[in-house]
Amino acid sequence: MPRIDLHLHTTYSDGSYSPAEVIRFAHEVGVTALAMTDHDTVDGIPEAMKAGAEVGIEVIPGIELSSRFDGRETHILGYFFDWQNETLRSRLRRQQTSRHERNPRVVTKLNQLGLKLSYEEVKAKAGSGSIGRPHIADVLVEKGYVKSVKEAFDRYLAEGAPAYVLRDLPDAREAIGWIHEAGGVPVLAHPHWTKRQGQELQAMCKTLKDAGLMGIEVFYSTHTRRQTSEYLELARKLDLLLTGGSDFHGAAKADIQVGRGKGDLKVTEKLLEPIRLAARHETDELKR
Ligand code: AMP
Ligand code: ZN
Ligand code: FE
Ligand code: FE
Repeated sequence: MPRIDLHLHTTYSDGSYSPAEVIRFAHEVGVTALAMTDHDTVDGIPEAMKAGAEVGIEVIPGIELSSRFDGRETHILGYFFDWQNETLRSRLRRQQTSRHERNPRVVTKLNQLGLKLSYEEVKAKAGSGSIGRPHIADVLVEKGYVKSVKEAFDRYLAEGAPAYVLRDLPDAREAIGWIHEAGGVPVLAHPHWTKRQGQELQAMCKTLKDAGLMGIEVFYSTHTRRQTSEYLELARKLDLLLTGGSDFHGAAKADIQVGRGKGDLKVTEKLLEPIRLAARHETDELKR
């Protein structure tokens, strides 16, 4: 059945499969268009485009930016932007620097809590990609300190847990601006993650819309039916685009499949044209 998936991770950040492998999974379940949205990097895009062309899947330039809003971590997705844009690339280098500064501090905190691991071991897990907490979680699982990645986050790594380190993040409004500058469409990722709902979520989305937000990720692997309908209504109210994706990572979230989420996710192809048109409009505006 034709479907799209606008939220996927690869080995270029904290996913466990290469872009070509993710494309293969996508092809198997009838995905016709997708976006790799690796954390704070565009490095996987060329490989994804090449693999997509081979099997006839459209690969849309994508990214997931870590940012902060009102003191809480907020993820902004970007689509159809100029991924070769130099200004954007220099901003992404800064994001990588902030990861490099944070990650060893997380390891130090874990060491202070009595867990024996080194940053070298974490780097080995990440390979050449963007290093993230899931890589640290993998090392903790491997060493038997926790049974799962989820437990690693719950006990140590999540916001508010004892080994959490606040890193230098741009404000969400700034991250939205970065996508705009590169001619793309900025979207609020997995709204339930913001731990806001109702009026509070609406106020946040309104503020972000004033800063240039153009869409909400309404369809998502772990959204309940109720959440999906709340976000759908919110998007209609604020005149925001609808997007959707699995947030596939591979091993780090083993219960989530490309294009199908936990089995009941289906993001329709119909969502794509409005996003594409919005991006075209953005690019035209920039040229003017
Ligand atoms: P980082 O980008 O290094 O700050 O790590 C954040 C990433 O860790 C998120 O994008 C998710 O992929 C993953 N993550 C966050 N919270 C959890 C959790 N509770 N369980 C599993 N993975 C998580
Ligand atoms: Zn991730
Ligand atoms: Fe995210
Ligand atoms: Fe993600």
